[in-house]
Amino acid sequence: MTTLTNPFEIARETLRLLAVRRIPPTPDNYQTLYQEISGTKASAEPFPEKQLRSLAAALPKTTPDQLRLARQLDEAVKTANWEDYKNRLIEFIGTLAESQKLAWADLVSDLLRQWDTKHIGLTTARKRESLEHVLTSSGANPETLFNRLQNLLRSWGQGKESNTPVDSETAPIETMPVEIGTKTLSTAASKDLLPELRTLFAFTLDSAIATQLIESPQLSSDAKALANDIRTASNAEQMQEFLTRLKRFAFKLELLAEDQAELRRSLLNLLRLLVENITELVLDDRWLHGQIEVVRDIIEKPLSQRAIDDAECRLKEVLYKQSQLKAGLFEAREAIKHMLAGFVDQLADFADATSDYHDKIEVCAGKITAASDISELGGVLSEVMRETRTIQINTQRSRDELRSTQEKVQKSEARIRDLEKELEATSDLVRHDQLTGVLNRRGLEDMFDKEVARGKRHDTLLCVGMLDIDNFKKLNDSLGHDVGDQALIHLANVCRETLRPQDTVARFGGEEFIILLPETPLEEAVIALTRLQRELTRKFFLNGHEKVLITFSAGVTELFPDDTQSTVIKRADEAMYKAKQSGKNRVISAP
Ligand code: GH3
Ligand code: MG
Ligand code: MG
Repeated sequence: MTTLTNPFEIARETLRLLAVRRIPPTPDNYQTLYQEISGTKASAEPFPEKQLRSLAAALPKTTPDQLRLARQLDEAVKTANWEDYKNRLIEFIGTLAESQKLAWADLVSDLLRQWDTKHIGLTTARKRESLEHVLTSSGANPETLFNRLQNLLRSWGQGKESNTPVDSETAPIETMPVEIGTKTLSTAASKDLLPELRTLFAFTLDSAIATQLIESPQLSSDAKALANDIRTASNAEQMQEFLTRLKRFAFKLELLAEDQAELRRSLLNLLRLLVENITELVLDDRWLHGQIEVVRDIIEKPLSQRAIDDAECRLKEVLYKQSQLKAGLFEAREAIKHMLAGFVDQLADFADATSDYHDKIEVCAGKITAASDISELGGVLSEVMRETRTIQINTQRSRDELRSTQEKVQKSEARIRDLEKELEATSDLVRHDQLTGVLNRRGLEDMFDKEVARGKRHDTLLCVGMLDIDNFKKLNDSLGHDVGDQALIHLANVCRETLRPQDTVARFGGEEFIILLPETPLEEAVIALTRLQRELTRKFFLNGHEKVLITFSAGVTELFPDDTQSTVIKRADEAMYKAKQSGKNRVISAP
């Protein structure tokens, strides 16, 4: 491996390795890795891969938890991540000790309690006898002992004796103890519920789980087979069989979930990498930089469908704008190249002509010196005049060419600037308002459709609010249009800070904003907008040092099933108009 020397490259490589090895990005870890890469300190001790791998291989792998640990350790060895290896082990031993301690403590106190309780038909001697039986028959296996003791205590609790803890093998299903983890449901209590539970369980496996596993056909058909098993199991043996298969299935599901989490992490890393690279490509475009920053910010936070939608929308804008700029810049560059080539040709002609001129003039000068008669000079003079005129014409032509080339270059540059401006201001593919950064009308249209679909899917309410700044014309007139612009930015920021992350803010027109409030009943939407009003009186807009109070009037309404975007906005607008009519700076709801 070549040693990196550029600090930026070392820093980037350090970050990359932190991510690849999944080392927590603490200052110490960063420093250690940085020094390792830059070679400024003896590199960290070599990772004892062989030893750690053999330790992982030697650990028992009979329970799902143990298998999972083995996988995690294997992964840590693969990425040479000692921290991870250590933490996984400590965590596992911790939970093991904790769960055993707790479970045993409960069991022993239960035993003491049941021992002292009087049970019909159970003498202390009988209890001792059955306890001894369990102790001797369970051998040295603590897990079996634990389960059998639990069964025994349960049977005491039900007032009947059970010194044969494996009596479930042949019992009919209704009297069989149902074990879930280390807890055992009383059969009598669960008996009535059992048929219903079975149906529900089969349904869950068949309709909910199997359909979620379309991408894992084997697991999907396992789920269907299990559903069938539970529907048809008619005796305890079959039920036991079902439980064993269910456990195996649950374990496989857990592994799948881990794989999917891993996949998600990798995809996010890939996206991060892409985003970072785009930033490097668009160094001098502030707008693109801003958009990329937003995307980066979105993917750093916990993922949600909304965040992904938002990131997608921003990236689309970046890609669109980049492709446009690229085409425009390519054309302009070609034009400039063409013009320069032409000009260089002209220059070469001009240079030829002038050197020719020099030669000719020199010959003429020679003739003049050598002339002995004035009549000889006449011919030389007209030759000088002719040559000088030619060179004059050439010079003039070159100057004109130069000027026109200059003009063309300037025009091309202006075209590029216009193109950029036009894209920022009017492109109907851009979904965010350039001034305030919130969605524009087009962005709102997309988001509205998404929220309506989401509301239908989850059967939740969606409210729509329309805000209009009060007396904004007066503010513009007294403080100027630029201050008015800053006030709009301030309002948009306060909206974003005050409302929930799932709420959408969009600029609908000059000083009008639309707010979408998903999963919100009308009363709560009114409360949210009123809170926004209060926040605006608290977070003053500052024009220099002068505090400027901005207020707005708002109308808010709920989306009805047959509403379209325009009907619901119209209702919100009418309510807003009422708020203006009744004195401004208030929120009015339309049913
Ligand atoms: P009302 O309380 O009734 O809403 O009064 P108003 O003055 O706010 O309403 P009106 O609709 O009469 O004026 C809106 C003003 O908003 C007019 C327009 O110049 C200004 N405006 C619209 N877009 C912008 C913008 O992007 N920047 C600035 N600074 N002003 C804008
Ligand atoms: Mg208005
Ligand atoms: Mg207004």
